[in-house]
This record gives sequence, C-alpha cells and structure tokens, in this order.
Amino acid sequence: MGAIDLHARASKDFEAKLAETQKLLIQAAAEFAPLKQASSLGAEDVVITHLINALELDIPVFVLETGALHQETLDLLARTQAASRAPVEVYRPVQEQVVQFVAREGKDAMYRSIALRKACCQLRKVEPLERALAGQKAWITGLRREQSNARAEVPQVDRAEARIKINPLADWTWGDVWHYIQANAVDYNPLHDQFFPSIGCAPCTRAISLGEDFRAGRWWWESEAAKECGLHVKNEEKVAA
Ligand code: SF4
Repeated sequence: MGAIDLHARASKDFEAKLAETQKLLIQAAAEFAPLKQASSLGAEDVVITHLINALELDIPVFVLETGALHQETLDLLARTQAASRAPVEVYRPVQEQVVQFVAREGKDAMYRSIALRKACCQLRKVEPLERALAGQKAWITGLRREQSNARAEVPQVDRAEARIKINPLADWTWGDVWHYIQANAVDYNPLHDQFFPSIGCAPCTRAISLGEDFRAGRWWWESEAAKECGLHVKNEEKVAA
C-alpha cells in the first residue's frame, strides 16, 4: 500500500484551506518579491511547487543538494527541473569544506555528537541556504503545525526575523497534503511509499513504524529538542547552537 492509499484524506474544510493557500501565494508573489521557495522535495514541498506552477507565479524554487541525498531524491530533482515552469535552482556545499570535514571527522561523524551533526548540517545545508537566500526579501517553506511540537505555533506569515518566512501549508494536515498529490497527480519521492514521512540526507533519515511521531525518522538517535537542522531555528538559537 502506497502513501496515497495510506494518507490521502482531505479535511472537511480542505477547499477553503486550498483557496486560502492559493491567495497567500499570489499575494506573496506580489508583495514580498524577491522571494523563493525552499524545497526539500518532500511531500509538502512538491505540493507548493505544483501550486506555484499552476498559478504561473514568478517564484523560483531552490533545492539544497547536500551531497548526501538518496538516489530517489536526486531522480525527483532531475524530473522536477525538467517539468517545472518555475526555475529550479540547485545549491551545493563548498566541496573543499566537505572534503576536509569528512577527512577530519569521518563519514559517520553525525552519529558521534550533536555538535558534529550540527557542524555537518552547517556546511552542507545552512551555508548553502544563506547563499540561496542572499538578497531575498522572503522565502516559502513547507512547515506545518502538525509536523512536531516544535512547529505547533507556525504562522502562515512569519515576520519574526528580518527575512519574512511564508508557510502556506501551516494548517494543512498530512491527509490534505496527500489528497492534493492524489487529486493533481503530483510527482513525489517514492521513499514516501516506504514509510519515510520526512526525507532529508540519507545517513540521517529512516523509515518510521506505525504510531511513531512524524519526525521520528530524522536524527532518531537525538532527543526531540535537538531535532532542527538550523534551517528553521530562530536567529538567537542559531547563534547559541
Ligand atoms: S542531515 Fe545529516 S548528512 Fe545531512 S547535513 Fe545534516 S548531519 Fe549532514
């Protein structure tokens, strides 16, 4: 049984949520430019890219190709680049820094300590993210309130930091996301059919079992509180990390 069969269940007010999301994206393109969509190519992000393309909005999409993604994700990236109307930009880490880090700390450094895991995320994700967002007034993410306790307060438009963060699916359920994918035949990562709800780098992502928390498959060897990669922590936390 695939992810669509398992999860596609629209909320009662799905049509209203969808209309609100479309309105927010149109408004964002007009009011918050220049802006980009950050895509991990996960289920939420392929929905947002699909909406950007369907609405013919001038919002580029970017993907952080960390050098540690699953082949399934790389294949989806290639298909998305070929099919998307909106430009799909790819940002990679500084190769020399990755080579030096791996030579110094080893390929599996992320399992040894939170500090090493964060150092790896810093050079493979956070630094390329900063390059991707340079000069942008706003960015769009696939954060949803339902994803974890840490995300329970996610607003649709977050003005808490200098760069506005727009979370158009903030109030969508997992069932809504899969309903949209099914209804619009959106291309998605086949790892979702193997019980990966949240997909990141291959060494740091695993399938989850029935009843496990949504983000239990990410950095599963760490405590819940440590489980953000630096992309969505507040500035003051980022400095302290
Ligand atoms: S998710 Fe894992 S492999 Fe990817 S950048 Fe972070 S520590 Fe490194």
